[in-house]
Amino acid sequence: MPDTMETESRKLLRRLQATLAEAGAGQERLDRITHLIADSMRTEVCSIYLFRDADTLELCATEGLNPEAVHQTRMRIGEGLVGRVARKNRPLNTADAPGTEGFRYMPETGEEVFSSFLGVPVQRLGETLGVLVVQSRAQREYSTDEVYALEVVAMVLAEMKELGAFTGEGAALAAPHQNAFMIKGGVAQEGIAQGHVYLHEPRVVITNLVSDDPEAELARLREAVDQLRVSVDEMLDTASTQDTEQLQILEAYRMFANSRGWMRRMEESLVSGLSAEAAVEKEQSAARTRMEQVPDAYLRERLHDLDDLSNRLLRLLTGQGSETGAEIPVDPILVARNIGPGELLDYGRALKGIILEEGSVGSHAAIVARALAIPLIVNAKRITTEALNGDLVLIDGEQGIVHLRPDETVQAAFRDKSAMQAKAQERYASLRDKPAVTQCGTEISLNMNAGLMADLPSLPTSGAEGVGLFRTELQFLTRPKVPKRSELAQHYARVLDAAGEKRVVFRTLDIGSDKVLPYMKPQDEPNPALGWRAIRVGLDKPGVMRMQLQALIRGANGRPLTLMFPFVAQLEEFTRARDYLMRELDREASLGRVLPEKVEVGAMLETPSLAFSPNSFFEMADFISIGGNDLKQFFFAADRENERVRRRYDTLNVSFLSLIELIVSRCRDVGTPVSFCGEDAGRPIEALCFSAMGLRSLSMRPASIGPVKHLLRRCDLREARAVITEARASGAMTVRPAVMEWLRHQN
Ligand code: PEP
Ligand code: MG
Repeated sequence: MPDTMETESRKLLRRLQATLAEAGAGQERLDRITHLIADSMRTEVCSIYLFRDADTLELCATEGLNPEAVHQTRMRIGEGLVGRVARKNRPLNTADAPGTEGFRYMPETGEEVFSSFLGVPVQRLGETLGVLVVQSRAQREYSTDEVYALEVVAMVLAEMKELGAFTGEGAALAAPHQNAFMIKGGVAQEGIAQGHVYLHEPRVVITNLVSDDPEAELARLREAVDQLRVSVDEMLDTASTQDTEQLQILEAYRMFANSRGWMRRMEESLVSGLSAEAAVEKEQSAARTRMEQVPDAYLRERLHDLDDLSNRLLRLLTGQGSETGAEIPVDPILVARNIGPGELLDYGRALKGIILEEGSVGSHAAIVARALAIPLIVNAKRITTEALNGDLVLIDGEQGIVHLRPDETVQAAFRDKSAMQAKAQERYASLRDKPAVTQCGTEISLNMNAGLMADLPSLPTSGAEGVGLFRTELQFLTRPKVPKRSELAQHYARVLDAAGEKRVVFRTLDIGSDKVLPYMKPQDEPNPALGWRAIRVGLDKPGVMRMQLQALIRGANGRPLTLMFPFVAQLEEFTRARDYLMRELDREASLGRVLPEKVEVGAMLETPSLAFSPNSFFEMADFISIGGNDLKQFFFAADRENERVRRRYDTLNVSFLSLIELIVSRCRDVGTPVSFCGEDAGRPIEALCFSAMGLRSLSMRPASIGPVKHLLRRCDLREARAVITEARASGAMTVRPAVMEWLRHQN
């Protein structure tokens, strides 16, 4: 950058800062800024366009265009050259604007006389807030230095907008973080919640954007980067060598912290007049923009790492820790970009809901949220940039919608919905101690799914008969290394203590696919859901499975022990796993330990193949539990984690019901008890149809027991069965409409 330009850029920033420091309303400030930029850059026009809503840009101030066009001229994102800059998030520099693709003539601005056009996005942390434009009559392309200077100014504008410096009348000048904001995300745990935002990692606020003393800023930046490097090295020294994922991240941190390119770009920003903080944020913003555009998941992850590293650097420079000192608000709803399962467990049940900007339905955090029954929305775009600590927020975890700072109408509708749900809950609570007996006198056993000690208090309060599925993965997922046998044995003993007389079905470790242990070597599998997981891992590497079986036997300590193996696809897998258990029982006996008074060994039926296995399988299993989540994904070949397909096939599709019917009949023929423990068991209509198909035991989330029991007690299964039979005979694809219609006429 030539010296003259350096001083020009610094001069411009200094004047900009002086202007911003003057008192005045938002509009006055914007007007002064456009005047100042046009004057400093010696161009006839300078205009600022800001978003008035998610798709529309509005001309908010101009020097050189017709002043009457201010707040009148609007364009949609992608429309005209200005809209194109906003869409592409990149500068557009042309000597011949009217001849450039996308040019749109706007007579009200008198624009046609200006040949050259330079537009740069006004963006903050990857979010585009508007477009800053300069234009001139002479046909010329703006120099690289001029583009750079305008980008620096645009960045300062974005920060000032964030700080509310341009707040004024009208939608485009609305104060930031005050408007209602709605986001559609993915549902990882259903439920509705109302509360206040609690930011897991609050943003760093930068107030000193501009500096006159590049040397001093350079010294500050270098010192902070040195500290950063040292802290990354320390983290690497103390990291567990087993945790390959963490090591990968830290290596990426180290690479960025030592990157000459990163440092050079920040130093250039200092020379042009930005403060050290602003220089870091400029780079961070660029990384965020790239993040949105990079299709490769691995590269995106690395850009995330750079983003994290920038945050660390900003905290070092500003002295702001990750703790803001903000009190946890009443009814906290945690907002984060992402969160690990351990951190989520630390917050525990104090949270009313969780909203993640990223995350996925199958993430570990989702597993924990499910276990804690806290509504969780994932993939909520821009939530971390929009939300402020304490903001009112509503989660509609049925539709996957987040209402941030909702207006009164939305709040009222939400209140109605919650009131209805609360009323229903009261109704369900009154049924708690009553059995789930249908009108035709059939009793259905309703059990709950669990995965944490914290779930056990729901056993008496939900009215569940027992725990039909205890997922044992969480103790493995939330630790940096394989838990010790003694720890596990204690944990299982406490679960059994808490359950008292009630039966608990422990499901042995179900890892692989979506549940990757932090200390497990990641498998490079093209189709992890069909890959090396659950019992396949247990049988190939029996060390951990045997240790878990020993822990279960010791935890039972003479009490009855019920366990089942996940993901069995053929008889031989079940017999081998069962043999391991028998050997461990013998071994424990030879060590003089007390054996469980009774052992029941079941299998989860999660693959269609098992439904067609030899009779000996059904005879050998003490019980069978249908894992409907997996069974359905394999039956319809539809990934349970893929939003595009996961709801595509109805559980009440006649083909799936026929499969259930077949499993029930095979179990009945040999007298083997069978239950259903997938999510569908907790949906009242599905539960009713399963019962009509002959299932007599269901296991579900504790909160679903009330609604399911309520419906079952109102219905006659023989009639429901007749409706299903008729719908099947009529050639219907799914029996749902017929069942719904029939239910409408039930009292
Ligand atoms: C299932 O697949 O239905 C099941 C209960 O197991 P998970 O959801 O843990 O895979
Ligand atoms: Mg499963």
